[in-house]
Amino acid sequence: MGAATRDGSTIFGKNSDKEGDATLVGPQYAMHREIHVVTDFVDASGMRVLGLAAAGKLGLKIGVNSAGVAGGTNYGHTAEAARRLRIGATDLHDQLAQDRAMRLRRGLEHADARGAVRDVLDSVIDTPSATPGNLEFADASQAFVVESAYTESALVTVHEGIAVRANRFEVLAALSGGHPSSDARYARIEEHLRAREGDLTADDLQLVSRDHANGPGDLSVCIHGYGHRTRAMGAMTVRLASGEAPEFAFAAGTPCVACPSADGVMRGRLTIDAPPVPEAFANGAAWRQHYLPADPPAV
Ligand SMILES: [Zn+2]
Repeated sequence: MGAATRDGSTIFGKNSDKEGDATLVGPQYAMHREIHVVTDFVDASGMRVLGLAAAGKLGLKIGVNSAGVAGGTNYGHTAEAARRLRIGATDLHDQLAQDRAMRLRRGLEHADARGAVRDVLDSVIDTPSATPGNLEFADASQAFVVESAYTESALVTVHEGIAVRANRFEVLAALSGGHPSSDARYARIEEHLRAREGDLTADDLQLVSRDHANGPGDLSVCIHGYGHRTRAMGAMTVRLASGEAPEFAFAAGTPCVACPSADGVMRGRLTIDAPPVPEAFANGAAWRQHYLPADPPAV
């Protein structure tokens, strides 16, 4: 944000990483994974919203609205979440986190990041999410990160510089107990962005999304978990500048495959009358074409 970017705009970038499971079969799934699509709708406030979502689900993992608010949500590893998973108190569908994804969708009904985050904080106070995680919202002038884990929540406000999250907390870091993949990805993203601080563009964030340092595997930003473990499903970058329509790029599929492909990334400026999402991104064909299934085991 601000002086960290080449033109003073806000640049928001996020990957969507999801785990798979043998039970994920049927028309919404492929290769035991949720098919990812770009949804396109006009919300209750009359704003156009584009978001990366699991096919057939209403919640958004990453999204942007035509008023210039971008947002995302991600899981946050904590010792308590690991304990609940171990004893069966949470299940796969809690882990896939439609509740946080619905909060993101609702947040994007607001015309600025402040309105979005107030809405989220209200709902988190009423009902904590089934699993810990972050919700982030940004507009051209400010950004917010809500860290939330059951009974504890924290709000971070950003007006300037670089803010990074992986699947972990900053303010609530004491709850984490360390997670090698999140720690490695966090360090790599920060290294990448700091090296370009003052000259950052949306293309730099797209390069981060497909980064394979420390991998490809569980430790790379473009995460390639083996078997049913977490893999990257897609990515979004958005440039937000005051008085301009948001400039977006959605990558469908594994970022290292989708980003270099001529038809793996959907780009444009989001206005209420911008062209509709191309069919391949809306129906999952682009995702199927660019999703790289689990790597074979090393020999
Ligand atoms: Zn990759």
